[in-house]
Amino acid sequence: MIKKKIAILGSTGSIGITSLKIFKKNPKKFDIILLSANSNYTLINFQIKKYKPKFFIINNYSVFNKIKKKFKKSKTKFYNKFSELPLKKIKSDITISAIVGIAGLEPTIKFINCSKKILLANKESIICGWHIIKKNSLRYKTKIVPIDSEHFSIDQLTKNHKDEDIKKIYITASGGPFLRKPLKNFKNIKAKQAAKHPNWKMGKKISIDSSNMMNKVLETIEAYKLFPFNKNKYEIIVHPQSLIHAIVVFKNGQSKFLYHDSDMIIPISNAIYENNINSKIFIKDRNDFMMKFKNFKFEKIDKKRFPIVTLLKKSIYNNSGPIILNASNEVLVQKFIKGEISFSSIYRYLKAVLGGKDFKKYAIKKAPSIKEIYKIDKWARIRTEKIVNG
Ligand code: NAD
Ligand code: MG
Repeated sequence: MIKKKIAILGSTGSIGITSLKIFKKNPKKFDIILLSANSNYTLINFQIKKYKPKFFIINNYSVFNKIKKKFKKSKTKFYNKFSELPLKKIKSDITISAIVGIAGLEPTIKFINCSKKILLANKESIICGWHIIKKNSLRYKTKIVPIDSEHFSIDQLTKNHKDEDIKKIYITASGGPFLRKPLKNFKNIKAKQAAKHPNWKMGKKISIDSSNMMNKVLETIEAYKLFPFNKNKYEIIVHPQSLIHAIVVFKNGQSKFLYHDSDMIIPISNAIYENNINSKIFIKDRNDFMMKFKNFKFEKIDKKRFPIVTLLKKSIYNNSGPIILNASNEVLVQKFIKGEISFSSIYRYLKAVLGGKDFKKYAIKKAPSIKEIYKIDKWARIRTEKIVNG
């Protein structure tokens, strides 16, 4: 049997590690040829020894140098930048795109022409550059499968349906760690508390985005880009159990939803094994299904608690609006982690950036190139810094 060649962009992160867990279970079927990470020295060391990839891209320059020296006799070739990679020598059957933030956009686009299939977790690249990803994937006949759980569900639920068949698409939100926290205590929230998601184990940035609903704002835009049904049909609904990931209400009186445990291993392995029921790789708890079902709750979103959802206006979906929203949010989340700004001020600063007079000037750019995306991204970062620093 010819092994499938696997590349993982962001192999030391939450999605990267979960993906490796799946591939590891079937070493006769998969060959890890390429890994990439930012700066986790210990884990990079471990992954080189364990998986012996042909290529490893290490973004942090000093970690890259340290690793390169330590493994100078190894067969793995090390690169500091994606632009240095000999892409013509790389052929991947499955690429996992799991870098966090806009930093994942360029690598994702690069890997379209050397991958048969890309499992795309990096939502920031979808909301900022889907037009480029889509165009290139058609050109190179690369299959793109979104693996964000809500989108993996919407994809399956809406397959073979047109806009006129659909009444409503609900994207579920757990509500995060502050769903019931008294509002008067919001001013003391620390990054550590915000990063503690009640149902999912994820990277720091997405966990913080989940605590104030920014993750759902990004995901609603992500859904609209991937499945361009009428945007008014999308609605965020709170479902604290995180067991139903999307609900589609059809005009024929039927509704469909997708249920699975809150573990990313399920959408990722179903994407790898193309929903093959016989893959049997993650079935662990069938017995408590009834119990879980009994306790399902759904609630409308409280906009006082999560004012960030009010940013989802018409103007934010289109052109380069999402790039500005995303860049500004990336800056603010980092500042919140460093303790430089408060939890609630993230929303206030985002609103100030989006409401500023220059926003319109930069937000009108239609279908920007990668270069333009990074330019708009940079403008938004500088603008955000300026607003925060008064
Ligand atoms: P993470 O922070 O755990 O991991 C991020 C990975 O990207 C790490 O391997 C890190 O080394 C690498 N990285 C970070 N900055 C980099 C840079 N500048 N250049 C190159 N590599 C860099 O994040 P995660 O939770 O695994 O999420 C990854 C992506 O998947 C995000 O876009 C997130 O929104 C999306 N996603 C995650 C989950 C989840 O359950 N974790 C679910 C749905 C979608
Ligand atoms: Mg999600």
